[in-house]
Amino acid sequence: MNNKRLWAPWRSAYVTAIDQKKKGCVFCRIHSEQKDKKNLIFKRSQHCFAVLNIFPYNNGHAMVIPYRHVGELRKLTKFEKQDLLDTLEYAQALLDKVLKPQGYNIGINVGRLAGAGFPNHFHIHIVPRWKGDVNFMPVTAGTKVISQSMTVVFKELCREDQRRNRKA
Ligand SMILES: [Zn+2]
Repeated sequence: MNNKRLWAPWRSAYVTAIDQKKKGCVFCRIHSEQKDKKNLIFKRSQHCFAVLNIFPYNNGHAMVIPYRHVGELRKLTKFEKQDLLDTLEYAQALLDKVLKPQGYNIGINVGRLAGAGFPNHFHIHIVPRWKGDVNFMPVTAGTKVISQSMTVVFKELCREDQRRNRKA
């Protein structure tokens, strides 16, 4: 396993490439836009949301993001932190069901130096992993990779979410 490959995507192009012309925070924007299907937001909870990364490192690469625009974990309330972890766990359960990965990289980049594409709005990455997946989808800055498979994965995640809500 090549460590560089494992970590490089985390400073991924999500925000460096996305809508450079539009000002402001992309996470705040997609949260407030209320176009969850277009923005690939597959789960909303009380304090945060889960979204597929449109510049994925791997199939199903998602992020869990608090609604509030804060850059650091310590600035979140304990309720937000609890909800963030609960939503992370829930997103992982959906990904488990839909994609059946063999593992995950789950992590946080703090600061641009450490690879945060957008350091001012805290977020947690969750990246499904499979044996031999290192060449799956190299991240290319400036290249938008909303592929057919992402739309399919998104729909399946939403379907699984609805199925669980019916049961609950
Ligand atoms: Zn923001």
